Amino acid sequence: MSNGGNAMKIQNQLLKVTMFTAVLLGASITSQTVKADETTDANATKDATAKSEKTAVPLYNGFKSTDNDVATTEPAASQTNARETTEDNVSSSEDQTTWINTNQFKPQNDYYDYLNHKWINKTDVQSDKMDAGASLDAQRNINQRVQNKFYDYLNGTENTKSQNMQKAMDFYNLYLSKNYSSTEDISKDAAQGIMKVVNQIDSLEDLSDFSKNMNDLLKEGVTMPIGVKVDIDQRNPDLRALYFYGGAPVLLKDNGETNEDQTNQNTIGGFLSSSGLSLSSIQGIVVNASKFDKILVDNQSAEDIITDHYQNNYGAEGINRLGDYLGVNYVNFTNMPVFIDMDHFVNGVTGMTPGYVYEMTPSFYNNINEIMTDENFAEMKAWMICNYVLNSSNYIHNLIANFPEVEGETKAEFNQRMAYYLTTDAFGDAFSKYFGEIFLTKEAKETVTDMAENLVSAYKDTISNSWLEASSKKAALEKLDDMKLNIGYPTDSYSYYNKIDIKDDSDFYQTYRDIVDARNYNQYAKYQKPADRTEWAGLSSLNDNAQYVPSKNAIFINTGFLQAPFFDVKASDSTNYGGIGTVIGHELSHGFDQIGSLYDKDGLFKNMWTANDLEKYSEKTAQLSKIYDKTNFQGATISGDTTVNENLADNAGLKVAEKALEKTNAANWDQFYRSYAKANRYKYFIDPDNASVAAKRREQLEKDAHSPFPIRVNKTLQNSDQFDKTYGVKPGDGMWVDPDKRFNLWS
Ligand SMILES: [Zn+2]
Repeated sequence: MSNGGNAMKIQNQLLKVTMFTAVLLGASITSQTVKADETTDANATKDATAKSEKTAVPLYNGFKSTDNDVATTEPAASQTNARETTEDNVSSSEDQTTWINTNQFKPQNDYYDYLNHKWINKTDVQSDKMDAGASLDAQRNINQRVQNKFYDYLNGTENTKSQNMQKAMDFYNLYLSKNYSSTEDISKDAAQGIMKVVNQIDSLEDLSDFSKNMNDLLKEGVTMPIGVKVDIDQRNPDLRALYFYGGAPVLLKDNGETNEDQTNQNTIGGFLSSSGLSLSSIQGIVVNASKFDKILVDNQSAEDIITDHYQNNYGAEGINRLGDYLGVNYVNFTNMPVFIDMDHFVNGVTGMTPGYVYEMTPSFYNNINEIMTDENFAEMKAWMICNYVLNSSNYIHNLIANFPEVEGETKAEFNQRMAYYLTTDAFGDAFSKYFGEIFLTKEAKETVTDMAENLVSAYKDTISNSWLEASSKKAALEKLDDMKLNIGYPTDSYSYYNKIDIKDDSDFYQTYRDIVDARNYNQYAKYQKPADRTEWAGLSSLNDNAQYVPSKNAIFINTGFLQAPFFDVKASDSTNYGGIGTVIGHELSHGFDQIGSLYDKDGLFKNMWTANDLEKYSEKTAQLSKIYDKTNFQGATISGDTTVNENLADNAGLKVAEKALEKTNAANWDQFYRSYAKANRYKYFIDPDNASVAAKRREQLEKDAHSPFPIRVNKTLQNSDQFDKTYGVKPGDGMWVDPDKRFNLWS
């Protein structure tokens, strides 16, 4: 590429080099990009298990156990009807037989193993080198159901009236009609599409030309030095506001130093090389982009650079809210940049003239006339090209990562697999709404909604009777009153799909890209609409997951989670409260963890504790941290601080579920705890034959915000007085903890 701003002469017919063998600057394309297009909501506290790398070991041995494996013991006398009732089809018969037990698996010694040891023994994680667990089974189950139904529509054995489903089928068939023979084929198509935009960026003549085209560039998903997103207004939570941030370095480190991690550079170089650019052109781009990185670093505070990074890497809708931001008068804001027609841009994007906007990174906007100039325009373009290539080549990397070759698979089978995968990706929102609604019956949704309301009510009782001082108590109660309970699936119609027109001869990659771009651009149209804390913002109802989103003060309990063993509309209250009830209690409790408690009832930053309460709260979290700290799990050492928020949510969540069940006056505590232990069963695969892989896996466990499942179950139950009462746990038993040492957040 030329450095002088002339249009890059890239011949698409030169795309003969395959992307995967391109070697540039000594390195080939890696399958990782830093700027991954992840939809992870960093504000959301996600509660799925580690899903990628899989692992386990024989038996969890963290609790008291004996070698005696024959004696049978009855549970504590306080337990009345221990067995699952027949209407309770959540529990399988295999669990019922565990009632007659060994000493080792006495409920009083190690409840997790007591309930799960048969499952643990028969579940082989070594042969397939994958973790196993209730959550993973549930995910597999719903994935399969969605896929079966979608293929029923495709095959015509079932019909759907949904326009979005029709479009998804058209998309699927469009892919097949291209008759690709390999991932290389698909990548070539994608590369052409990406290069179209790269050329478009390169053909911009100067800042004034750029200024006129900013809205189009935003629509096409181009990262610009001026970033803007729409989110709930921090001054008025009923409205939405515009949040502006700046650019972050793409090749250099945040402090402007050379990055020893060359992943980004290699990805960009590899891509451009395989797209036919000469080595000197590519070097020009890399050098110029680095120069622009340096300009960004030199003109922004270190804090603002970090904020920029968070926003740039944030795939979910809206901003990644890290604090309160500077509100500025709109006229002052638009007058600031000399070379950019900011008002033209804002009007184009929102169709409105705001009264004020927020600057997330004031140093960028104070220095914008040093950063965005005609003198460094070539550097700025190179920076935009690098960002665009990184963001969009992620599509290709995803294909590689998700589509390892399957032995014996025919081309047709491969293409079907790929077509389906890409359809679920592009139509994620449509699937989330459509299948979420289909798989969660009205009755089930009502039942879970009732449960959630009961849990909120029980939580309010708990808070009312807690040690909190009056003003803290009031804030906490208001937070619970205002919490949005999003059960099942989104209600959004995702009308951005209406803009997508799929014809027989449509370009496949372009169609895919159009959908992704329309989804991202959709937020700007919402600027004119009232704030809505029930929006799922890219979360899929079909994930076996639940989350609390502090910036919305909302919980999301996905349809994917609302299946056995977590929930069954036919199961008893005791079983359901022990399953999904504890999950909902857990999510509600995240509203009061160390992060959640920084946000108020509207999802805005506001301290809710008095000084005394803050001190007491810190004592509580310190106590909790100590309880879990240095626990050994299969060679991994769990950190009490890393896991404190999740442990807090587990413990407070179980307590509130107990309380809610108690209020139904139909508590069968044995059913409740069995359900809890069963829903949380999980077997980790830690490779016994590969020390470095095993070490990596242990490192993951140590970094996970969640404690490993057996620890989660047993330690949470050890802190429960009701559990102790149910099973008659005595001093000396594995599950025994002195009552004055038990953790109870609110009493
Ligand atoms: Zn959690």
